[in-house]
Amino acid sequence: MFDFDLFVIGAGSGGVRAGRIASGLGARVAIAEEYRVGGTCVIRGCVPKKLFVYASHFAQDFEDAAGFGWQIGERGFSWQALIASKDKEIERLNALYVTTLKNAGVTTFNERATIKDKNTVVLADGKEITAEKILIATGGTPFKPDITGIEHAITSNEAFHLDEFPKRVLVSGAGYIAVEFAAIFNGLGANVELAYRRDMVLRGFDDDLRSKLEHEMKSQGIKVHLHTQIDKIEKCEDGLNVTFHHGDVSQFDAVFYATGRTPNTAGLGLENAGVKLAANGSIPVNEYSRTNVPNIFAVGDVTDRIALTPVAIKEGHAFALTEYGNNPTSAEHDNVASAVFSQPPIATVGPTETEAKEKYGEIDVYVSDFKPMKYTLGGRDERAFIKMIVDPKTDKVIAAHMIGPDAPEIIQGVAIAVKNGLTKAQFDSTVAIHPSSAEEFVLMSTKRD
Ligand code: NDP
Repeated sequence: MFDFDLFVIGAGSGGVRAGRIASGLGARVAIAEEYRVGGTCVIRGCVPKKLFVYASHFAQDFEDAAGFGWQIGERGFSWQALIASKDKEIERLNALYVTTLKNAGVTTFNERATIKDKNTVVLADGKEITAEKILIATGGTPFKPDITGIEHAITSNEAFHLDEFPKRVLVSGAGYIAVEFAAIFNGLGANVELAYRRDMVLRGFDDDLRSKLEHEMKSQGIKVHLHTQIDKIEKCEDGLNVTFHHGDVSQFDAVFYATGRTPNTAGLGLENAGVKLAANGSIPVNEYSRTNVPNIFAVGDVTDRIALTPVAIKEGHAFALTEYGNNPTSAEHDNVASAVFSQPPIATVGPTETEAKEKYGEIDVYVSDFKPMKYTLGGRDERAFIKMIVDPKTDKVIAAHMIGPDAPEIIQGVAIAVKNGLTKAQFDSTVAIHPSSAEEFVLMSTKRD
């Protein structure tokens, strides 16, 4: 009766996983992608960002190498060479995604699809396709506030393709993307300033991590302007003149906006099928990712639940199992670990100390503040910090927060313990791996007052 059992709009992390699994379970699946298969994470998000983080970190490593006996000769950095290698890797991953879909038997349309009615999508070339179910996995797009000259500003979309390396960069915002890119540009040699409208970077994270990151950013040379808004941006002979709300004017080569992302629902035709949207344009769904229209579903950033790739993947997978595997599965959204690839990086699982106090009343907090061994000979004046929060009633470890080298690698393992409700006593009974930073997690014996 329908051309396909499932039509997925958007071939990013969530859409590809859902389509692939549904097809494996016997559904006839099609997917449409207007840009490049792989989505934000692979094409212009997590993956190229992490490659840039590695690139920028060499600056520190070269400096520290002397303490270990290395003499490093003249150093030079080519932005164009970095972009070229990154592009090659993204090409490779994009091709892998395309092949994965093909091998899974999913029909891919490389064009935009919009919704005509609850069972019909229209492709950019006008072709109409019917499907029993439709999955919206269109992700999000960078949001830029409407100020004078905002058209001169770049976002993460453009930052991966700049022809010239900007030597003076102003970053607006202080969330994940802002602090990550501030560190990237700084490490690669730019003069970086960051303007944030509130009092401390990374709102939503544990306050100790926030203040320690801000301290490290400043000691690495990033100028952090708090309580600061940008009023206007004007093109001038040597770059961009930025006027701040307090009247100061400064010049930059690039103004990078990392002020959040908006769900990609505009112009999708959702109203034609009666799909309700939230005020911010996201698609509300139930625990099985179903919208208010029973045969239309949504996963990933477009639903504005937790905007992280692994979450979108879990949601897509759960959707496919539920609808085509006779196995109702809801993607869990509790104790989701996440990392910020700032320099130093942050990783975290569970509530912040403030949130934990609100939820549990009394809590035990263990902290460890130390100089990572790697920095001793290198002479780097940077510290790592670990915080563990325990519910004294049950002895369960309810949260773990870390800032310092390898924090994301370490917290991924700790997250398994936190998610599964292991107790502080069980952590303490685990033998340490020495010497490591991770061992602090099994050696913390003194509660903080
Ligand atoms: P975030 O929501 O993390 O941060 C947005 C920042 O912009 C905040 O500091 C916010 O301030 C500020 N802001 C928002 N609106 C304005 C405005 N009108 N004027 C000035 N400042 C403003 O968004 P990002 O863009 O950094 O990232 C989007 C999402 O992508 C993240 O939430 C995350 O889920 C995901 N992501 C995850 C990564 C990872 O896992 N490592 C990496 C990159 C992105 P305020 O605090 O006052 O609201």
